[in-house]
Amino acid sequence: MKQHILVIGAGFGGMWTALSATRLFDIHGHNDVEVTVLAPQAELRVRPRFYEPNAHQLAAPIGELFDAVGVKFIKGAAESIDVAQKRVGYVDASGNQQVCSYDKLVLATGSRLALPNTPGVVEHAFDVDQIEQAVRLENHLKSLVNLPESKARNTVVVAGGGFTGIETATEMPGRLRAILGDRAGIEVIIVDRGEKVGGSMGDEIAKSIAEASIETGVKWRLKSSVVAVDDSGVTLADGQRIDAKTVIWTTGVRASSLTEQIPAERDHLGRLHVDAHLKVIGQEDIFATGDVACAASDDIGNFALMTCQHAISLGRHAGNNVAAQILGVDPTPYSQPKYVTCLDLGAWGAVYTEGWDRQVKLIKAEAKALKTQINTTWIYPPAADRVTALASADPMIPVA
Ligand SMILES: Cc1cc2nc3c(=O)[nH]c(=O)nc-3n(C[C@H](O)[C@H](O)[C@H](O)COP(=O)(O)OP(=O)(O)OC[C@H]3O[C@@H](n4cnc5c(N)ncnc54)[C@H](O)[C@@H]3O)c2cc1C
Repeated sequence: MKQHILVIGAGFGGMWTALSATRLFDIHGHNDVEVTVLAPQAELRVRPRFYEPNAHQLAAPIGELFDAVGVKFIKGAAESIDVAQKRVGYVDASGNQQVCSYDKLVLATGSRLALPNTPGVVEHAFDVDQIEQAVRLENHLKSLVNLPESKARNTVVVAGGGFTGIETATEMPGRLRAILGDRAGIEVIIVDRGEKVGGSMGDEIAKSIAEASIETGVKWRLKSSVVAVDDSGVTLADGQRIDAKTVIWTTGVRASSLTEQIPAERDHLGRLHVDAHLKVIGQEDIFATGDVACAASDDIGNFALMTCQHAISLGRHAGNNVAAQILGVDPTPYSQPKYVTCLDLGAWGAVYTEGWDRQVKLIKAEAKALKTQINTTWIYPPAADRVTALASADPMIPVA
């Protein structure tokens, strides 16, 4: 009987896992293994772009790609993992409970914004974590034009001044002007616990963030946090209030809760600890990749972050190594010593950095051109052509 690799998740980690495993079987002329991807949609949802307008367009179909390389796709959402019986329970497209057996499992179910229990956040705040939430925000922004002119209507509060908060906020003045007109008195305010604008991102990049914030008109409330949200604004820890019809929450991402069903060590973000081959430590037949994996990215103490940059490479390695285990050939240890950042800063441009200390290499239009290339080309799936797709899944291809 054919062996079966089941990949749960069709994001950057899952899609590249399926392609990379198929590539290694192809190289070894081995066609006795079935590779299946289980996910709610046969599409790659391009999460790094969800701060942009037209969110509904930010997904790329991958059904034809999987057909071209012979990967089977099951439309469904996994609910349970029975490690002892090697079975995954899922809800299929018709809402029925189903079970799928595996010989090797690769968990690639990504991460989710973990909303805090701050009063009113769940009911009133927006976010850009998943495509549905990004579309909901967009519809809300478009509906603001139907409200009478007021300070609250024209004000957006972004909770959290990290990567996603900064990209969302600096894009917002342009998005609001397109909806409310150039004469509207727009205010975009980032509320952040830090002491310095962009401080959590590093000293050098912070200078670009500060400059871009001034030029785009984004204000910062530092050493501050939102303690309550309601339908017309936020209350800060010091009791001050900001009237705002739009509050966007950007703090606190956590690995998919399916990680909890695998008996293994997890880190503070819920990610499964994996070895250099991305096998979950203590589990012989389970691999983890992308945002659900806590993987050392070099041998000097750095770990993969929950980024697309890491998820693509982690996916190519997980697929290669799960296939290598079946084939009995040498795996390719995961290593990604180069770390870069390309942060969109709205109308100011962008900033591109290299190294874990984020040394600035490009700013403004030059960095923006790079960001556009990354976001519209590099992170998209390969063409639905077997030879091209398998060649592009080589784990040795550098991502950054
Ligand atoms: C607004 C925003 C901006 C970002 N900007 C950047 C950036 O500039 N650079 C960068 O490198 N990274 C960025 N990221 C992070 C990046 O998007 C993630 O790290 C990346 O998407 C992780 O890939 P993944 O495959 O692990 O998870 P995901 O891309 O989240 O994919 C998870 C997959 O699992 C599926 N799934 C989930 N649950 C189940 C289930 N129960 N059953 C079956 N399938 C399931 C999902 O449908 C999806 O197919 C950004 C993220 C956001 C939200």
